[in-house]
Amino acid sequence: MVFEKRRPGAVLFDRDGTLIRDVPYNGDPGRVEPMPGAVEALGRLRRADVPVAVVTNQSGVAKGLLSPDEMDQVNAKVEELLGPFDAWAICVHDDADGCTCRKPAPGLVIRAAAVLDVSPRDCVVVGDIGRDMEAARAAGARGILVPTEQTLEEEIERAPEVADDLSDVVERVLSGAEDPVPAVSAPWARAMGWSRW
Ligand SMILES: [Mg+2]
Ligand SMILES: [Zn+2]
Repeated sequence: MVFEKRRPGAVLFDRDGTLIRDVPYNGDPGRVEPMPGAVEALGRLRRADVPVAVVTNQSGVAKGLLSPDEMDQVNAKVEELLGPFDAWAICVHDDADGCTCRKPAPGLVIRAAAVLDVSPRDCVVVGDIGRDMEAARAAGARGILVPTEQTLEEEIERAPEVADDLSDVVERVLSGAEDPVPAVSAPWARAMGWSRW
């Protein structure tokens, strides 16, 4: 059987604990530190023409622990260190607000996909906790968990897919090994609409 390499429409990364070290409610750009392999992983995806975006819960804004301006400064520092992202989808609410964007709700994934003009089903969501995987599942996206010391054992067990690190994520995403699509060439198959969707 022949497998076609199938690149995702976009890779959507959680920010804290995934792209940068998790400093809770950080409003200080000076404390932004990339996670190991983040620069290289993003570089490989960009060179492969895969759009990259950030989907991040920032409830510190709703809690009054950091200002929108401080959050913007931190995000600007993230782009300074990790390069530009094709989209940012940020939830500034808290659990009690009942919004549709705060992960595990799917809103951020749907919003980022809409901005990038791709289907959420063609997106990969990369995160470090269960909320990220639940948001991915709720949006119909592929979820890949990259556990840290903070990740709960139960979150790892329940994850649809677990990667060792960001380099492993890129291998999985670009190889398409987890999502093989048969290369269909038979005219009858094409007539039945099998070739692509
Ligand atoms: Mg996180
Ligand atoms: Zn929200």
